[in-house]
Amino acid sequence: VEANVELLEDEPQYKEFAIEEFLVRSEPYYRPVSDELELFQAAYEQHIPVLLKGPTGCGKTRFVEYMAWKLGRPLVTIACHEDLTASDLVGRYLLDAQGTRWIDGPMTRAVKAGAILYLDEVVEARKDTTVLIHPLTDHRRILPVENTGNIIEADDRFLLCISYNPHYQSALKDLKHSTRQRFISIEFDYPPIDVETEIVAKESGCNEEQAYALARLGDKIRNLREHGLAEGASTRLLIYAGRLMTHGIAPRRACQVAIVWTLSDEPELQRSIEEVVHSIF
Ligand code: ADP
Repeated sequence: VEANVELLEDEPQYKEFAIEEFLVRSEPYYRPVSDELELFQAAYEQHIPVLLKGPTGCGKTRFVEYMAWKLGRPLVTIACHEDLTASDLVGRYLLDAQGTRWIDGPMTRAVKAGAILYLDEVVEARKDTTVLIHPLTDHRRILPVENTGNIIEADDRFLLCISYNPHYQSALKDLKHSTRQRFISIEFDYPPIDVETEIVAKESGCNEEQAYALARLGDKIRNLREHGLAEGASTRLLIYAGRLMTHGIAPRRACQVAIVWTLSDEPELQRSIEEVVHSIF
């Protein structure tokens, strides 16, 4: 217990938020690409955990926000990173003027409240977090809280959803089969040009013609991947370029700062991407 006692309750990360604050109140804009809405809904109703696979900035987070809104459940999102430990998720003892007390972590609160728990980039988290995922994702649907000795049964409306970017993975940081075979997997990718045009126009406020040009640009740059580009331009970056253009920045300049310089530091690769930009704008 001692090792898990934290001082300084005033630190913002230890502030307790009411679970209602995690409700998605207004409908997020989400343009379905395939049958992902039906798949997620069916999984939710059947208590089947969901793994969202796909490159960065292709709409995974937006999709989960939309589903949380549609299902009327609170959404607890955790961006996983290498320092994230099991007690960050489950909770810890805090020391304040009244003495020591236990504070539920975000995972515990999500499990109790029947929220959708979204662990973004789950392979980045420490190994001890997978110990928590396993009992939550089988028929038991429980969360063992080691420090208090409690076992919490998940609310009937709870669902665990994780995301994972297959491009980033190294042999060391792969999702173990014993973990991934507890989920159904929905594959995401950048949307087809007509759909991406719609999304870019809607999200950036640029006109239809500019949005179409940006979607075509995204498509062409993604084909450069064989030439050493680790990851293509995400929908998010195309939207950034569109937003700069909406604010009066010239298209080539907007694409340079939003896309070319963001995607690569190598002058040669930058020149190749720039050429693609100039073939369109
Ligand atoms: P990821 O979680 O895959 O990294 P996000 O969900 O944050 O990506 O997507 C990045 C941005 O792209 C979103 O903020 C949204 O503006 C836009 N976007 C991508 N796909 C869609 C979609 N299908 N419908 C609506 N917006 C989308």
